[in-house]
This record gives sequence, structure tokens and C-alpha cells, in this order.
Amino acid sequence: MSEKLKLEIITPYGTVFSGDVDEVAAAGSEGDFGVLPGHAPYVTTLKIGMFTCRIGSEVKYFFVNWGYAEVGADKVVILADSAEKAEDIDVERAKAAKQRAEERLRKQEEVDFARAQAALERAITRIQVAEKKR
Ligand code: ATP
Repeated sequence: MSEKLKLEIITPYGTVFSGDVDEVAAAGSEGDFGVLPGHAPYVTTLKIGMFTCRIGSEVKYFFVNWGYAEVGADKVVILADSAEKAEDIDVERAKAAKQRAEERLRKQEEVDFARAQAALERAITRIQVAEKKR
């Protein structure tokens, strides 16, 4: 059994992370889950949320926007609509996106509610994840 997990976080905009880690934790559509090396293989969907990986005593934080996690005994592949490392999040941009989404949700007409709600959730989660940067 491998003692490390090969983690890849891939988005249409590029690879956000690729490397060996000891453990990962993600926001699955059906609840938060963690993976250690040797886990049984499975595929699950991810919601907008925080994603973490541990390398030794260091924990790295990421924002992940929807997608899939493919888990194998020695590999975790995250395919997400978008994702950023905590330190790469532009907080001012997220705050502006939050304000735009809140304004849209305040209007009663001509609003794609689900789209505005998702934009708001992305912005709030990015702000939370950015606070974890070291
Ligand atoms: P915005 O309205 O600010 O574009 P969004 O939630 O619609 O935000 P996405 O569609 O999730 O943006 O992502 C588009 C691209 O922009 C991706 O590459 C994503 O990583 C990047 N991105 C979006 N918001 C931020 C941010 N606050 N900081 C850093 N990168 C961001």
C-alpha cells in the first residue's frame, strides 16, 4: 500500500495543484469527507466549498467550485469548474462579486436566482478560504 496520495486539482483554466500529500478533506455534495492512502476507489460530486490537503504537518487550503473527486488507493483527482489556492484568491474581487450577487438577489425581476445564489456562495466561500492563507 502506498503511503502517499498523488493529488491533482484540475480546472478548465489549468492545473491548480499536483503533488504528493498525506491526506485530503473535501466538501462532497452528500457531506464532507476525508481520504487517506489505501482508500477504496470511488467517485463523488463536490459542491462549492473548502478543500484541504495535509503534507506532513502543513495544511494547504483551496477553494473548489463544483466538480468531481475520483478517489483511488494512491490517487485523488479533483476536476472542478474553478479552484484556487487560498493565497491566490483575490479578496477584493470576491467582495465585488459578493456585492453584485447580493444586488441581483435584492431585485425581484429579471434575475436568474439560482445563478446569483451560486455566485454569492462562491464569493462568500472564497473570502472564507482566503482567511486561511498563511
Ligand atoms: P467573478 O464574477 O469575479 O469572475 P466567478 O465566481 O464568476 O467570479 P469563476 O467562474 O468561478 O468566477 O472563475 C473564473 C476564473 O476566475 C477562474 O480561473 C477562477 O479561478 C478565477 N477567479 C474567480 N474569482 C477569483 C478570485 N476572487 N480570486 C482569484 N481568482 C478568481
